[in-house]
Amino acid sequence: MQTAYLNGTLLPLAEARVPAMDRGFLFGDGAYEVIPVYSRRPFRLPEHLHRLRHTLDGIRLANPLDDAEWTRLIGEIIARNDGEDQSVYLQITRGADGKRNHAFPAHVTPTVFIMSEPLVTPPPEQRDTGIAAVSAPDVRWLRCDLKTTSLLANCLLRQLAVDTGCVETILFRDGFMTEGAASNIFAVKAGVLLAPPKNHLMLPGITYDVVLELAAAHRLACEVRDVAEAEARAADELWMTSSTKEVLPITLLDGRAIGTGTPGAVFRQMYAWYQDFKQTVMRGGG
Ligand code: PMP
Repeated sequence: MQTAYLNGTLLPLAEARVPAMDRGFLFGDGAYEVIPVYSRRPFRLPEHLHRLRHTLDGIRLANPLDDAEWTRLIGEIIARNDGEDQSVYLQITRGADGKRNHAFPAHVTPTVFIMSEPLVTPPPEQRDTGIAAVSAPDVRWLRCDLKTTSLLANCLLRQLAVDTGCVETILFRDGFMTEGAASNIFAVKAGVLLAPPKNHLMLPGITYDVVLELAAAHRLACEVRDVAEAEARAADELWMTSSTKEVLPITLLDGRAIGTGTPGAVFRQMYAWYQDFKQTVMRGGG
């Protein structure tokens, strides 16, 4: 049985209920985070809570809890759910008002929800042979740096991948690569790792930071700069990164091979660094 937290109460997940007038339900008016847990330790919790604050500030919603209280509640949820490795999901919405009105209600209590699911890492064949991706214009709004629950565009874009037998959709805006429907995207050209810069057009991924830190620690040549669509399509390697997918090689884009059409040497190196980091640092709570 999964245990969740809802508005001050721990309860079975199946029994968690929110009112139909909740603005999260009516408007997608909320913020969320997904925190991977390794060996029952939340990975980079301060960084996730920092990103949560950035989202809440961006949507003008006061943080209902301080970091100490978030840390305590997340620890409680991890302890009460099965599995050494978990994926903690938390969400805050602007709460339920008596009427449906786009403008914020004057007085309303935010809804706070936390749950945990098993952390499922990608099947080994995705790492060994690479994954197929499809591309699409990035039709989302201009605050993609905010991790809000208004995810309809991301859902439609990810479904496009599923409908075309792919794992991810790579997004291009105004001739440049932004990110994936639910991941960040890196390119490799002539041994140099290329990463789109953090700005309002992409989510600042925690895994994105880890990959850049590992690149710096191992002196892998790296450029954080805009990546043109043509450059991405002509790259030697493309990778997708996220907390749950970790680092995966994209070997096919829109049915055309990326590089040799197999996972590249730089990917294999980064994957090994990432797994080593996971064993030593993530499982140690770093
Ligand atoms: N971009 C988008 C749009 C995402 O939804 C995610 C998370 N699934 C990411 C990037 C990767 O972020 P993280 O590494 O923190 O999981």
